[in-house]
Amino acid sequence: MTLSTRIREYALDLGYDRVGLAPADDFDEFIEALAGRGEDYDWWTQGPRDPLSWGRPREKAGFARSIVVLVYNYARCRFPPELCALMGRVYQSRSYLAPPTNINGARLGLMRDFLAGEGLTCEDAIWLPQRWAGVRAGLVSFGKNTCAYAPGIGSFVLLSTLLVDAELDYDEPGPVSTCPKGCTLCLDACPTGALREPFTLVPRRCLPFNAWMTNKERGFGVTDSIPREIRPLMAQRVHGCDACQEACPRNRKVLAANDARPRDALLDLLAKELTLEGLLHMPEGYYESRVRPVMYNYIRDLRFFQRNAAVAIGNTRDLRYLPDLAQELDNPDATIRAHVAWALGQFAGPCRSPEARRLLSQRQAVEEDAEVAEELRLALEE
Ligand code: SF4
Ligand code: SF4
Repeated sequence: MTLSTRIREYALDLGYDRVGLAPADDFDEFIEALAGRGEDYDWWTQGPRDPLSWGRPREKAGFARSIVVLVYNYARCRFPPELCALMGRVYQSRSYLAPPTNINGARLGLMRDFLAGEGLTCEDAIWLPQRWAGVRAGLVSFGKNTCAYAPGIGSFVLLSTLLVDAELDYDEPGPVSTCPKGCTLCLDACPTGALREPFTLVPRRCLPFNAWMTNKERGFGVTDSIPREIRPLMAQRVHGCDACQEACPRNRKVLAANDARPRDALLDLLAKELTLEGLLHMPEGYYESRVRPVMYNYIRDLRFFQRNAAVAIGNTRDLRYLPDLAQELDNPDATIRAHVAWALGQFAGPCRSPEARRLLSQRQAVEEDAEVAEELRLALEE
């Protein structure tokens, strides 16, 4: 059995759904596409991860000769609808950037160990243009929603890429896209217009970006504040968004099969106990017990969950949350206060709640932070 065959069979044995092998050549299309998107991706291309350099794997990792591309179908269990309203399925699956202590991280660790056991130098190249690598290995194509689509599976897939130092028996590259010509269902379903045109995502309008990348430490004009025009479009999504995948007819089967898949006991527990008010107040221990199990490495700063929960509560326009918002209107963190003020504005304006107006006016009388004061003023105007 050749080394390439042993790699393929071991990956399948580990539970990966597809495995492909590709040369570690430059990803010219990726570099060209990203380099031409200056303002959209400045926060990324000029940040510490330097993704453009990963477009040239051999320059980045001198040993690299080949890429082992792994596809994992993460739609394996029933995703509780209550959780799907709050977060993307990939986070529920605990497979993205999984730590080695989690079963999905351990699987990738076993794959690395196997390759090392074969005498190969190997690096888990998570910043490599993975979807382009998947196309080169003939495993996936791009949807117009920019998600990777694996034939026979759908787009709820996670790609992993390992660089190795051996020449292997490569797969034939596949087509870059297999979307039906006239289909624009994903673009039409995007609540924020983040899919500016087919295959073109504007990150700053995308809800996942706004849920966890809005952090002023990133620079390039990104702030801790979720833009006001984006907030009403978030609905209750505090972490991620699947709207453009849910709309895709090629995911219809996998979505329809949700209730028939085995239940995931942890997700069922979280569906009962992960609440918007729990996230807003984030009591001691709540993060560890209810948030970290599924969102272990995305938002290290808990105040951003509180901020997102405030927006999600505002979008419910459910007056039962008024006492929760009232409590956090005195939160010492100005970003949280500002978003709570916005949420109360949804109650004061569209719901015409006198109590929401009273709370806003009361806070306005003592507020010293200029940004929060402005949010209070706008909320009262609404
Ligand atoms: S993830 Fe949501 S916000 Fe982003 S492009 Fe898809 S539908 Fe639009
Ligand atoms: S909705 Fe249509 S255009 Fe969008 S990814 Fe699916 S098949 Fe492609």
